[in-house]
Amino acid sequence: MNASKIMIVDDEPFTRIDLKEMLEESGYKVVGEGKNGEEAIEKARTLQPDLIIMDVKMPVMNGLKASSIIKSFSNCAILLLTAFSHREVVEDAKKADINAYLVKPVKERELLPAVEIALSQRRLFLSLQDKVGHLEQKITDRKTIERAKGILMQQLNCTEEQAYRRMQKESMTHHIPMIKLAEKVIQQTSE
Ligand SMILES: [Mg+2]
Repeated sequence: MNASKIMIVDDEPFTRIDLKEMLEESGYKVVGEGKNGEEAIEKARTLQPDLIIMDVKMPVMNGLKASSIIKSFSNCAILLLTAFSHREVVEDAKKADINAYLVKPVKERELLPAVEIALSQRRLFLSLQDKVGHLEQKITDRKTIERAKGILMQQLNCTEEQAYRRMQKESMTHHIPMIKLAEKVIQQTSE
């Protein structure tokens, strides 16, 4: 768990040093650092961290803008650092899909639980994304099989059940998954 890759982005060098020390002492791997939003985007692409700890107020590009751009291409978690707990920042943070935020100065006893929560949220998100992906695939496969069944019903002038049994038998005899068989049936008719 502690092998998670973390990136620190803050325009104040001392904040970066402090954070790095606290994280490394707890066994986390700090894979990169940045001092503004642009660097954050660039390094998020190349280093692919699991979590970015990002300051809000930075020159060149602020942390909120960088976060929403990073979230468009990366599934990393983002923990925002703010100087004040402004309501506005919280609202913007929600829009930028921020996982958590901390108010500066960051204390170790607050940082570590926030890091763990952000990382576990990310893991949960990834596993849900994976499940959704599988379900979508299943639905697509089911539609393909239904279509192939319809074609066979017409070709063989048989009932739905007979068409399905036929496909099942073919699938078992030739060790071809149902979905592959269905794709073949569809392909043959469109040729
Ligand atoms: Mg700053």
